[in-house]
Order: sequence, then structure tokens, then C-alpha cells
Amino acid sequence: MIRMVLKGIRRLETEPVPEKAPAPEDDRVQFDVLACAVCRTDAKMWDQGHRDLVFPRVPGHEMVVQDDRGRRCMVWPGKSCGACPYCRAGRENLCDDIKITGFHADGGFSHRALLPAGSLIPMPDGLDIYTACFAEPVGCVINAFEKMPLAPGKRLLIFGGGTMGLITAIYARHAGLDPLIMEKDAAKIRKIRPILEALGLTCVKETQDSRFDLVMIACPDHTAFCQAVTQVDKGGHISFFSGITKNETVETNLLNLVHYKEAVISGAYGMKKADMEEAVPFLVSHTRELGLLIEAVVPPEQAPDLLPRVLSGKHLKYILDFRGDLHGRDAGHRSCRHGLQTHV
Ligand SMILES: [Zn+2]
Ligand SMILES: [Zn+2]
Repeated sequence: MIRMVLKGIRRLETEPVPEKAPAPEDDRVQFDVLACAVCRTDAKMWDQGHRDLVFPRVPGHEMVVQDDRGRRCMVWPGKSCGACPYCRAGRENLCDDIKITGFHADGGFSHRALLPAGSLIPMPDGLDIYTACFAEPVGCVINAFEKMPLAPGKRLLIFGGGTMGLITAIYARHAGLDPLIMEKDAAKIRKIRPILEALGLTCVKETQDSRFDLVMIACPDHTAFCQAVTQVDKGGHISFFSGITKNETVETNLLNLVHYKEAVISGAYGMKKADMEEAVPFLVSHTRELGLLIEAVVPPEQAPDLLPRVLSGKHLKYILDFRGDLHGRDAGHRSCRHGLQTHV
């Protein structure tokens, strides 16, 4: 049994899971990790740290686990205090004393994980573990959308044709919106074309249209933020969903557009446990669509080699499968069935 420990910037090391389980602090319980998806945030943390990261740390916050009675769960990646004004207002992702799994506490890049009992969400019958790994990113989208005035037919512009952009588009259609994805990397558009075609989604390299009711920023490029302000309609709404590159400059002329247009900008960081619970029926009804976003399912030993790939933003979702021998499982099938190359 192994685990991957982030010991410093760009230092993810594989080591055996300690024989003796650590004495559970608070209400944490030991689980077997079945699968853990690799998030772009994991790769960013590996590359440059993160506000909420404490070294050394086992990363991973998009996991499916199993207890010793064989019960499978998804995991809301946090432990909140329950007492601060944010917790009491039902916004526990903003908790003053939050401990985010994979950031402040060890996460799912390990055969075994010690997790807060209160963060578990039971997996329904009929949901496979790979689709269940999407509960966290879908929950994040639900948290972001909750802050926007959604209504069927509203026009949504999504910046970024990566995994998050595509998940947002699939969820937006499910919510009755009319999404358009904008992705400036032509190679990435080529890569996701089979998926766009399979899902009937549209992705453009650019658009002059500035009448979008809603805009979602699902990429870290700060120019996307600038363009979002330009392209949102008067009275429209921007979701500041992805953190953007640090220490870039935004023109005040541009910010004045927020004033003239009476645009609303809402931040979204992580999600509440209820958002993740709300994601579950969506996962069950969108297994096929979400399955298209899986780049490859790989053994956990490959995690250190994966992070630079994930950081590049050129790939879709990688999932680490901790159940042992991958041969004969549907991993290969998953990664090839929509014609994408398996790079690992
Ligand atoms: Zn994530
Ligand atoms: Zn709190």
C-alpha cells in the first residue's frame, strides 16, 4: 500500500502507507481509497503551493472511498467548525476554521485515508466509482451557479474548454441554459472536438458577441477575466469561478465597465456539502457524458508523472485507481472509447 506525499514545491514522493494508522484526531475515520481523480488544483499546488496548503501533505480531494463493511462513499473535501457565522449561515466552505482535505489535512492520493465522518456522502447503487469522482467538481459548479440568476434559455459564455469548462457546459444544458464555450488554444479545441460533437456542444476560439446573460470563468488566464467583463451583457452576471494567475494587472477602464453595465461578479470557492449531495442525481443521469471527460484511468504510482501533464491544461480528467491490477478493468475502454489518446 502506498501514498503520495507532497513534501515541497514540485516534490511529490511515493512512500508506503505507515503500518500503524495515526490516532484519529476529532471524528476522523480510516477508509480504503478506491479511486481519486487528479484536479488541476492538485497540479497547481505541486507547482506553486496554495493559500490553504500545509506541507507535507497527501493531496487529492476528488475521491471515492470504502469502509470496512464495504460501504462506498464520496467525500465532501472539508471539515468545518459548525459554529462560526459562515457555518451557521450554511456556507461552511467559507468557515473561519475550515480544514480542507488534501490541503490542510491528508487526502486521497493514498490507499488509506483518514477522513472526517461528517464529510461522507453515500454512493447510490448504479453509480460507478469513476463517475462518482466527478461529485466534487460538479458540486463546485452547482455552488457557482447557485449565485447566478439562472433561467431556461439564458445565454452562458464559458471561458475554458478544459474539464471544468466541459462539466460546466454539460451541467448548464441540464439546467436549461444555452452554453457557448470559448477556448483560445486551437489544439485543445481539436482534442475536445469528438466530445463536443458527441454532446452537441459548441466551442469557438473567439466571439465578438457581448450580449451574454451569464459568464463563467473556468480557466486561470487573467485575460479571460478581462474579456468576461467586456462580453457580459448589461445587467449580466459573471462567475469568478477559477482563480487567476497571480500578480497580473487589470485596467481600471475595464473595471468601469462593471459600473456602466451594472454587471454582477460573484466569487465561488469550493462548495458546500449540500452542493455535492445535489450533484449525485446529476452524476447518475449523466454517466455517459461525464465518462467522455476521462483522459485515462491509471495506477497510483503514476501520479508524480501526471502532475506536469495536468498542469499543462492539455488533458482532461485523470483518475488514479487504487484497487490494484487495472488489467481487464474498464480503464482502457474508458480512455479510448471516444477516440482520445491515452498518454500514460
Ligand atoms: Zn478539484
Ligand atoms: Zn465554521
